[in-house]
Amino acid sequence: MKYHTIEMLTSAVSPAQYPAPNLPEIALAGRSNVGKSSFINAMVGRQGVARTSSQPGKTQTLNFYEIDHQFRFVDLPGYGYARVSKRERERFNQFISDYLHQRENLVALLLLMDFRHPPTVLDLGMKEFADELEIPYAIVTTKIDKIKRSQYSKHIHSFVQLLDLPSDEALFLFSSEDRTGAADLWDVIHSLVE
Ligand code: GDP
Repeated sequence: MKYHTIEMLTSAVSPAQYPAPNLPEIALAGRSNVGKSSFINAMVGRQGVARTSSQPGKTQTLNFYEIDHQFRFVDLPGYGYARVSKRERERFNQFISDYLHQRENLVALLLLMDFRHPPTVLDLGMKEFADELEIPYAIVTTKIDKIKRSQYSKHIHSFVQLLDLPSDEALFLFSSEDRTGAADLWDVIHSLVE
């Protein structure tokens, strides 16, 4: 297993706090608790660098992680947490939307969704939003270790159908427990940032 360097640069609550746009960025979106922090830790082969949230929905910042001094993962605030007010939700939606539309060094978006359950209404909304952006995106389904192999095709089929994907090649199956899927995603990332 290859180890990567990771450095937490900043937790931004406004664009003024973003780091200089001098490296490619790959944003990660997904509902709270989907496994975004675990994804970052598993991709770099380290534990506990990206904070795993004990309080879902509390991380309402854009977290910039610089990887191998080559590119950044940008962890977007998890969506769909019921306990924040509607007004707060709207504010954060705008914050995410502005970042995704305006950030000049953003090269791709990864949409993380929980493999155990069909995509939620919010997942579908995020996918529609991604369709409108001018950057490539991919769907990463998390926690596949929690599903029996014999059930994979049923779950894949449900994602392809509900998300209206051209084929199952648009899905990347991932587990942060055993790093299944990490090598394929590194290939994609290298092609995006080199
Ligand atoms: P975040 O809110 O999206 O950053 O989610 P976290 O990374 O904090 O993960 C939420 C919970 O799901 C934690 O208890 C993780 O240990 C667990 N988790 C995340 N990814 C996986 C996975 O691939 N497999 C398993 N079994 N658990 C996972």
